[in-house]
Amino acid sequence: MRGDLAGLTFGEFSAWLGAVIGHSERFHRALYRQVAVEGRWAPLEIPLWRDESPDAARTLTGLAAAVQAPAPDRHQHEDDPGIGRTVKVASRLTDGQTVESVLIPMKGGGHHTVCVSSQVGCKMGCQFCHTATMGLVRQLTAAEITGQLAAVRQATGTTARNVVFMGMGEPLDNPDAVARAVAILTSPEAHGLARRHVTISTVGRADILPRWRELGLTGVNLALSLTAADDALRSELMPVNRLHSLAELKKAVAAVPIPKDRRILVSCVVIPGLTDGPGHTADLIAWLAGLPVLVNLIPFNPIPSRPWRAPTDDEVMAVRDRLDAAGIPVRLRLTKGDAVMAACGQLGDPAARRRRPLESVPR
Ligand code: SF4
Repeated sequence: MRGDLAGLTFGEFSAWLGAVIGHSERFHRALYRQVAVEGRWAPLEIPLWRDESPDAARTLTGLAAAVQAPAPDRHQHEDDPGIGRTVKVASRLTDGQTVESVLIPMKGGGHHTVCVSSQVGCKMGCQFCHTATMGLVRQLTAAEITGQLAAVRQATGTTARNVVFMGMGEPLDNPDAVARAVAILTSPEAHGLARRHVTISTVGRADILPRWRELGLTGVNLALSLTAADDALRSELMPVNRLHSLAELKKAVAAVPIPKDRRILVSCVVIPGLTDGPGHTADLIAWLAGLPVLVNLIPFNPIPSRPWRAPTDDEVMAVRDRLDAAGIPVRLRLTKGDAVMAACGQLGDPAARRRRPLESVPR
């Protein structure tokens, strides 16, 4: 139980604490904030507990060992004068596994986004992704997901306003822990993030997307990693497409409740010679028809396991111009963090591969 305290919602935590020691909700809130936001268990360091109920605080200190939060182990950063500092933080979990998170400065300065991981490794096998080469090592718990914010803050001194589930792993392959993490991130008693500042990115789990509402994800942004809109090419690049065709995926995406003022962020990795041709863009335009989308063009970030090069600016602009001409909103994503392998698709601990064989998506 103790190691999971940071993975409880406030209601669950308050019920547990009330049964253990009593006290009013005011006391419960103060301790929950320390657990859920700071990933720590030190009741005597909370003024309310220390000053008004020191005996109970001492009892609690003895009752619960430290919360088992991810501990920042090492970090690397990359500075870009036009963008700011991108920091990749690797944190050690209690079983010795490593999880990676990335602090990303937002355009305009001031705010930051933390890109969190939802799994150690990933079984989805996307061909342009370094994490895929690890296979799935294990699922993360809700506490290990939200704990990445505290680990990043500890390593960098920066608190993020936005959270994107775009790190290691496919969030909808771990839907219950991700939904619980979102509940904690958006809870006023914990992180208090606005739902519009949380984004879940999926590779296209058409079997899980229908659970969006039931999982409590309404109001959270949906991002879809699409890259190709031709079944043969997408199945080659993203094996999940062998399970859920593009037609099935579109039906599932169209049924997700998207707030009227929001768009689905559709990510397309531009790989020269593979996904940047006019025919490819035409397929994309046809597939996107009728959906409220914003296309995010991501220049492929070279990874050790693939021979592909990064596209030139002209190659990316050519795709952008064709989408633009079709009236599809598009943005180019500046590649942040590629020098420290912190950019999209570059996260992963190669050593973890040796601990467990590569799993593949069933065909
Ligand atoms: S891109 Fe995402 S879903 Fe695909 S293998 Fe990488 S981590 Fe997994």
